[in-house]
Amino acid sequence: MTNIKHHLTDDLLMSYAAGNLPEAFSLVVATHVSLCDECRARLASYEAVGGAVLYEAPCCAMSEDSLAATLLRIAEAPQDAVPARATGAPGLFPQPLRDYVGGDLDAVQWKSVGGKVRQTVLPTSKEASVRLLHIPAGTAIPDHGHHGMELTLVLQGAFQDEGERFGRGDVEVAGEDLEHTPVATPGDDCICLAATDAPLKFNGLIPRMAQPFLGI
Ligand SMILES: [Zn+2]
Repeated sequence: MTNIKHHLTDDLLMSYAAGNLPEAFSLVVATHVSLCDECRARLASYEAVGGAVLYEAPCCAMSEDSLAATLLRIAEAPQDAVPARATGAPGLFPQPLRDYVGGDLDAVQWKSVGGKVRQTVLPTSKEASVRLLHIPAGTAIPDHGHHGMELTLVLQGAFQDEGERFGRGDVEVAGEDLEHTPVATPGDDCICLAATDAPLKFNGLIPRMAQPFLGI
């Protein structure tokens, strides 16, 4: 049983099942799904639908050597290094996130964003970006709106936004025009994973000046 109250939208789960999300958003979806039984079950049903659609699709003619050519391409593809799997006690980060960080919380290399807020941008493809944020309890994330979509998943602590509380496993889906100021609640510092598909536009002057240097 989990206490997760804020889930992924159907659009996001369907796009993820179809392999259509930018890498940054896929990472947030995969990390939430690792924590959330409900979304894992919904995702499984979308994947089953996708499989049924392929099964029912009309056949198309293929050349005789297509199987051999496909097997050859698989054999020639560079092998990904298998990341070391952590064993023992479960940490803060679910496995999909751990694979990107190269470990758990203690492996993160934080950089200050101003005030006591810290972040690290994780390497993904360019069409969207994803970062880990460390926000001291009781601190606001700088006031910002965005041009695109923002997905924020809480890993530790909690934040309050637009009258709603988001705790571990909860994901906030913020659209185009939301101007919002999430505030970390008192207690544990808030650590979250946030993906955006366009640069944030901070409203305060100093964050705006610093934005090109932060890579967000
Ligand atoms: Zn969920």
